Amino acid sequence: MKQVVLASGNAGKLKEFGQHLGGLGIELVPQEQFISQEVEETGLTFVENAILKARHAASASGLPALADDSGLEVDALGGAPGIYSARYAGSNLKGQAKDVANCAHLIANLATTPAHQRTARFQCVLVYMRHASDPTPLICQAAWEGVIMESAQGDHGFGYDPIFQVLDKGCRAAQLTSSEKITMSHRGKALAILQRALAEA
Ligand code: IMP
Repeated sequence: MKQVVLASGNAGKLKEFGQHLGGLGIELVPQEQFISQEVEETGLTFVENAILKARHAASASGLPALADDSGLEVDALGGAPGIYSARYAGSNLKGQAKDVANCAHLIANLATTPAHQRTARFQCVLVYMRHASDPTPLICQAAWEGVIMESAQGDHGFGYDPIFQVLDKGCRAAQLTSSEKITMSHRGKALAILQRALAEA
């Protein structure tokens, strides 16, 4: 198995990504084994932030690194919350309270936006760097289309899932099981693209 460091502290992602990449002979190693402090996400785009995270993890570990950056783009808000999705309602909140506050903040900011203008999409960018100074990282991007609803429904998932109505399914992302979600989500589609790119490389 080839070891690759995952530039994320999220145990759910480690499992999800590991399932996709295990078949390619890749063993994902959590970055906490090498890094005590996460890199500051100073980029203005998902791809810049994913590159910063991957480079930091590759540099600290001496291993190839995989990073992801994701978020929600709402058309009526000019693409906000975008790269600021995780801290839309403030940076001092954590876990479930943060998710609830972010959803409430988004619902409030769309209070006067009619239903047909509430279109949105989740975006995910994955970056794979062979080493810290890799000049040609593999970059895979995918989106998941939906509409932002006025109230929350569903108990699965995280983040904005309870208010994200999935276009193709007619239900909230939070009403999908984790295996249903990964087949259609931004992250699942980006992972499938990465899997093909790594298999070819
Ligand atoms: P990160 O890239 O995992 O840090 O995600 C950034 C933020 O985007 C999360 O904290 C969520 O608020 C939001 N987000 C990203 N992917 C999803 C998803 O699949 N469902 C719900 N919210 C998401």
